[in-house]
Amino acid sequence: MFGGDLLRVEHWTNAAEQGAIAGRNAIRGEGDPEKISGIPYFWSNWYGHRLQFVGTSLRTEEVVIGPGGPGSVVLYRRGDRIVGALTIDRGGDIMKLRRRIVARGSWDEAVEFATARVEDGSGTKQTLPA
Ligand SMILES: Cc1cc2nc3c(=O)[nH]c(=O)nc-3n(C[C@H](O)[C@H](O)[C@H](O)COP(=O)(O)OP(=O)(O)OC[C@H]3O[C@@H](n4cnc5c(N)ncnc54)[C@H](O)[C@@H]3O)c2cc1C
Repeated sequence: MFGGDLLRVEHWTNAAEQGAIAGRNAIRGEGDPEKISGIPYFWSNWYGHRLQFVGTSLRTEEVVIGPGGPGSVVLYRRGDRIVGALTIDRGGDIMKLRRRIVARGSWDEAVEFATARVEDGSGTKQTLPA
């Protein structure tokens, strides 16, 4: 997915997925071991705001869409592909961006999508209590 990069993925979701796969492989015994198939994802709550990240930021160019704080999207580009996305208080958008990353979607389309979402105010449904 990301050109053979070796990644340390220190997130809850990855720890849970790898633990489940390790358990299934342990009881399966011989044969092809199941491999992890997802792409890195994490969320973190900071001072009443939700940060969500999917994909990778390694060896990328980053572009901020929005005011640069809550309500913003940061997209990470390699060549003509989107490979990562960070959202702040945009719970309605992160999985839509994930689908684009998994589909090796185009950079231009992802920028167009994120810009339209930020400009029309949609996608901001996840502000947390401070
Ligand atoms: C301050 C902090 C904030 C974080 N925030 C986020 C976040 O917002 N979002 C996110 O996705 N990730 C976050 N992480 C990362 C996330 O917590 C880890 O990636 C995840 O917990 C790793 O899970 P794990 O099961 O591999 O290890 P751990 O959760 O570290 O579990 C290992 C367990 O093994 C136990 N143990 C160790 N040695 C032994 C032993 N010899 N015998 C018995 N038990 C033992 C430990 O006590 C521990 O309970 C954060 C980490 C830190 C430190």
